[in-house]
Amino acid sequence: MSQTVFERICAKEIPAAIVYEDEHIVAFKDIKPVAPTHVLIIPRKPLGALEDATAEDGAVLGHLLLKAPEIAAQLGLTAGGYRLVLNNGRDAGQEVPHLHFHLLAGRRLAWPPG
Ligand code: AMP
Repeated sequence: MSQTVFERICAKEIPAAIVYEDEHIVAFKDIKPVAPTHVLIIPRKPLGALEDATAEDGAVLGHLLLKAPEIAAQLGLTAGGYRLVLNNGRDAGQEVPHLHFHLLAGRRLAWPPG
């Protein structure tokens, strides 16, 4: 299968405004932000969706969730709070088939989502 844009960002084949990276995950600014802060946090491993994850991916997914508040703190978001969103599949509006969390902050976010 051809590489997704997110795999190419991980490989530094296309540019992105990276705010955090380590051996397991990359966080970068969304190219079409829907909030004053809109960062995507992705595993380097190209899992298409949650259904593609197995027990051996648990450590990386746990790592990603544990790093999210550190990334939020680095971006100055701790006091105001933030939302983590995972669009999983068509009806959720997933466009890029590489599992990712949206980290959204900087304004009051509506609930429920549209
Ligand atoms: P989703 O609809 O959950 O799959 O979200 C995919 C997100 O990826 C969208 O918010 C896009 O704006 C974002 N996106 C697509 N291409 C890029 C890119 N090259 N750099 C940063 N964000 C991107």
